[in-house]
Amino acid sequence: VIVYDGIINNPISPNRDKVVYLTFDDGPGRYTEELLDILKKYNVKATFFVTNQFKAYVPLIKREHDEGHSIAVHTLTHKWSVYDSVETYIKDFNDMNNIVEQYTGSKTNLFRFPGGSSNTISRGHSKGVVSAIANEMTKRGYVYFDWNVDSNDAGSDINNSSNIYYNVINNVSHSRANVVLMHDSANHRATVNALSDIIRYGKNNGYTFKAIDDSTPIIRHRVNN
Ligand code: ZN
Repeated sequence: VIVYDGIINNPISPNRDKVVYLTFDDGPGRYTEELLDILKKYNVKATFFVTNQFKAYVPLIKREHDEGHSIAVHTLTHKWSVYDSVETYIKDFNDMNNIVEQYTGSKTNLFRFPGGSSNTISRGHSKGVVSAIANEMTKRGYVYFDWNVDSNDAGSDINNSSNIYYNVINNVSHSRANVVLMHDSANHRATVNALSDIIRYGKNNGYTFKAIDDSTPIIRHRVNN
């Protein structure tokens, strides 16, 4: 099931409803261990879209995997130049997936585009490149996810744990799969601070938390380039 632009109803399986998929992009980083401690405390599984940006923390991919979270590729470098061509994108992707394999024992088929598949910054690098990458990666058996709930923790609420909390709890819905965008790179202290309250809200309001896997409804934006 592929769901574009957060269209709400998923008639396929009621078991897919009332589910929150917490996703963390851009790490591992300085706050990842603390975040993992919280997830462990509440027995919540999440999904990490990993990078190689903060080398000292990259081995935490092993802990993420060992504790039952899903590991997916975000990008090796998180530089917009990955959008220079399909080839540069796939090289960056494969380099990161090799690191994933090094720490988890296997490659992943899941990924998230830097900036999401709807990003328009890539236009300045190569016209149509996201569409071309999406086609090529799909052909190769890879599956990308965007999100339908944005915590805005990489936007104006980066330092505001209260806003991050409300951005999540006011936008999750019982009637769909909720894929929540959050971050665990260098500057996301406020995300860690909001996490326990988000989990408690979810558990108190009938939600279950799951890691993304092959049965998860695929939440995507519209590609804009
Ligand atoms: Zn990112």
